Amino acid sequence: MLSISHTLTGAFLATTLQHPVLYVPAVFASHYFQDWFPHWDVGTGLSSGKRKRHHAIIMEFVELGISFVLLLFIFQLGYPGIHWAAWIGAFLGLVPDFLEAPRNFLKWEPAFLKPINEFHGYFHHSTPKILVGLTPQVILWVVIWWLS
Ligand SMILES: [Zn+2]
Repeated sequence: MLSISHTLTGAFLATTLQHPVLYVPAVFASHYFQDWFPHWDVGTGLSSGKRKRHHAIIMEFVELGISFVLLLFIFQLGYPGIHWAAWIGAFLGLVPDFLEAPRNFLKWEPAFLKPINEFHGYFHHSTPKILVGLTPQVILWVVIWWLS
């Protein structure tokens, strides 16, 4: 899924569950669960060659910027001090994709990451249909914004 979906979900779970013993496994589980749904993201088309790697990297940085702004508005503004749970949850929500980034963007995969990335790949279902792949994610963002 898009980083926006994973960061908002991670922040939401962490701020709702509050304790790391609860939210760390929940955030990781949410990543694999969300990736299981057919979705569109900036990596869609990379393996088939329909999207160029440098294009995906630029889109990813734009998307991380959007994620940061949304996290700021939904979880940080109005909170006294740094809302650590939100930022930690958001970061954890991206860890499986960070671990896969060297393989996807640099064509380099350290051996110790291979089983983790294969586990990730087992859950990952993407669709080239943007509308089908984005609609559930936009609904997710609105629900999280509304609940937060
Ligand atoms: Zn993923």
